[in-house]
Amino acid sequence: METIQNYVAGAIVNSESERFGAVYNPATGEQTKQVVLSYAHEAEQAVEAASTAFKAWSKTSPLKRARVMFQFKALLEANMDRIARTISNEHGKVYSDAIGEVTRGLEVVEFACGIPHLQKGEHSANVGTGVDSHSLMQPLGVCVGITPFNFPAMVPMWMFPVAIATGNTFVLKPSEKDPSTALILAELLKQAGLPDGVFNVVNGDKEVVDALLTSPKVEAVSFVGSTPIAEYIYATASAHGKRCQALGGAKNHCILMPDADMDMATNAIMGAAYGAAGERCMALSVAVAVGDETANRLIEKLTQQISQMKVGPGIVEGTENDMGPVISALHKQTICDYITSGEEQGAEIVVDGRDFTVTGNETGYFVGPTLIDNVTPEMTVYKEEIFGPVLAVVRVSDYETALSLINQHEYGNGTAIFTRDGETARQFSEDVQAGMVGVNVPIPVPMAFHSFGGWKRSIFGPLNVHGNDGVRFYTKMKTVTSRWPASVRLEQHTSSFSMPTME
Ligand code: NAD
Repeated sequence: METIQNYVAGAIVNSESERFGAVYNPATGEQTKQVVLSYAHEAEQAVEAASTAFKAWSKTSPLKRARVMFQFKALLEANMDRIARTISNEHGKVYSDAIGEVTRGLEVVEFACGIPHLQKGEHSANVGTGVDSHSLMQPLGVCVGITPFNFPAMVPMWMFPVAIATGNTFVLKPSEKDPSTALILAELLKQAGLPDGVFNVVNGDKEVVDALLTSPKVEAVSFVGSTPIAEYIYATASAHGKRCQALGGAKNHCILMPDADMDMATNAIMGAAYGAAGERCMALSVAVAVGDETANRLIEKLTQQISQMKVGPGIVEGTENDMGPVISALHKQTICDYITSGEEQGAEIVVDGRDFTVTGNETGYFVGPTLIDNVTPEMTVYKEEIFGPVLAVVRVSDYETALSLINQHEYGNGTAIFTRDGETARQFSEDVQAGMVGVNVPIPVPMAFHSFGGWKRSIFGPLNVHGNDGVRFYTKMKTVTSRWPASVRLEQHTSSFSMPTME
């Protein structure tokens, strides 16, 4: 069986560890590969390689660094099919969705191609008589990325293109559930001309994560994953003096107003709830319907559309499926247990995805699209992130109640409103406590040149990923104030002991 190893200083390096994680094809339930769960000292070796490479890479001109990104972009495009197939085989998502994921990552690479412009800093002439001021945005050093299973290409590419283009070096710790994609990205970066040691991959679990979080040579940590782990990562990295951004889980609500275009809203909610089997941090998992009539119409339309959904393997000959399996047998069981808890706590299971099998793929980890009505805020299915193809419908009488539900939830990643009324939409955008807001747009994922991040317990740390925040996260500002006297010989120099103010 193929073993997925580490990538350090430009080459595959076999780990000494005898601990392995199993990698499955979720559509069949078969183990296809194993991934090495490295030792802590192997993480340290990757950090050492990155630290060595930093000396030259940080001094390489931004233009040359951008040119590597241009080459990498072209290679990503040429290898799109191979990457998407790898993702689909290990994650389970359908092929077109995997292509979409790679494309969203590619867009961050395109953003990083503009790094000479983004890293210019600022300049003010004559801040005082004969005095100028300019800022330098300098790289930090060795940066670490720890990423989740649900976007094995896109989430790493939220991080390393910006980190590397700004002059840092990088160690990626991918999810142990679908680790193959990271090594393809490493191979393409090398082909693109990236010097050895600038990008490294260490596979493993908590042991390597802890080594990276505490390594004295690591300057910054970017994490994306579940909220309990994000809290741990943020606390540990911060306690060890590192800059940290840790993005966590979500429970994304949409509000469906009585005046919404019901067909448009239903189509949008279907894709956002069940796309990628609900395993997206921006998946819509709660639809808050304002008024019983709105709720009844929504339930009717969703039930009808769910009955037409095609669920099966991510890669098939002929017509593509709408939804693939979930990541593991354990996760399938967790999702089914959530559905059962909803039933036990009094919700109505309108469409039940438990006991769901796909003919020909009976051992795959499939959960059918599930629709639960009459969900209330006390229920576990409302409170917790399920991360599966389960949509909860909450019925409320008015907009204010709908808004306060969202604002009281512990998560605040994405949200959306469906309405034809501009004033309601505008007020919602102003008042809602969430980081990313859609108006008649179900999954409002910001483009690469904006920044991605939620509020509340969906993020820890002040800066979001990619866009301007990403550039700020991966650089430290230095401001230089300089004066070149016209004639040093003629000036009388005296000391001043009061706070300098410019004259
Ligand atoms: P996870 O938290 O289980 O794992 C994320 C990473 O942390 C992996 O690399 C894993 O190996 C590592 N890890 C796991 N347990 C650890 C521990 N005890 N100590 C140190 N490291 C540990 O998350 P997941 O199941 O891979 O991904 C799904 C979660 O990620 C969901 O909660 C989802 O909402 C979230 N997510 C959030 C965003 C966002 O932008 N906010 C994006 C994608 C996914």
